[in-house]
Amino acid sequence: MTAPPPPTSPFGTVFAPKMTVSRWKDGAWSTPDLVDVGPMPFHPATHVFHYGSACFEGLKAHRGHDDVVRIFRLDRHAARMQQSADLLMLPQPGEAMLSQMVVDAVAANKDHVPQAPGSLYLRPTLIGTEPNIGAAGTPSKEALLYVLCSPVGDYFAGGVRPLKIAIETEHPRTTPAFGRVKCGANYVMALGITQRAKKALGVDQVLFAPDGDVQETGASNFLLLDDTRIVTKALDESFLHGVTRDSILTLARDLGYTVEERDVSVDEVIAWAAKGEAALSGTAAVMSSVGTLVYRGEEIPVGGGGIGPNATKLRQALTALHVGKAEDRHGWTRAV
Ligand SMILES: *Cc1c(COP(=O)(O)O)cnc(C)c1O
Repeated sequence: MTAPPPPTSPFGTVFAPKMTVSRWKDGAWSTPDLVDVGPMPFHPATHVFHYGSACFEGLKAHRGHDDVVRIFRLDRHAARMQQSADLLMLPQPGEAMLSQMVVDAVAANKDHVPQAPGSLYLRPTLIGTEPNIGAAGTPSKEALLYVLCSPVGDYFAGGVRPLKIAIETEHPRTTPAFGRVKCGANYVMALGITQRAKKALGVDQVLFAPDGDVQETGASNFLLLDDTRIVTKALDESFLHGVTRDSILTLARDLGYTVEERDVSVDEVIAWAAKGEAALSGTAAVMSSVGTLVYRGEEIPVGGGGIGPNATKLRQALTALHVGKAEDRHGWTRAV
């Protein structure tokens, strides 16, 4: 069978037919099952609906130019989900079990991995399922873990284009204790701020920089770059430690860039815009150039306002690895 072309449907709206599932009860995970994707019945008192006990991961399986399907940096994503689960008081699935569930889900849906630049987006999801509205102050005694798969095309409808980003210095994206958790609660906290900025300013995203400390956007890390350097905030508890961020920094070092991980101020970003580039990184969007910043009502072009050559170079280095065109020197891909 020939692989399907990249889907044209919006990101995340179509699903491959199978998923892997495990349930946590009486202190243990069940042996994972492979099941059909479809509606799931839940009691209205289910913990996650009331008390936000939910976290997730997002990673991709790519079909190579050699037709081999490879999962990208599975170990990192599996490790990060342990951290999210722990911080939300959900049971940790264990890296070995979760990794196997991801591999098994991809294997079961292999014919649905589209050709590049499409991919199979993988969404491990962990929720508290105890039916108990009295459990506001206690962790859910039951949980469900599943790995849902969605064939995706390009994240940005209409192809890659420079983004317009508003800088927000008053409201934080989330609370400090939740910065490193990949959870729906963080997204809904940023949603109102982002929607208002989209409406009022016509921007694509908001860059959160509380008190001038540049952290990240609602769903992507933020990088400054030029011909020799790449600068981004050092890992701390305030933001999500992106696997794409780590991959880009590693590839940048391989290519001879100087990598600076440190605090970045809004003033520095504004000054940088006059000469250098800025970009967002994340699994879904890979690496996207920022063409315009909006700050205090002013529109500021970044590096001339287009797609930056250095962002393009690093994006291509990363996507070459995804599809097996570049040598996997860091052992990042796992063939299925
Ligand atoms: C998932 C996510 C990212 C990107 O992480 P990747 O591992 O690169 O996909 C960045 N910020 C937030 C808030 C996220 O949830």
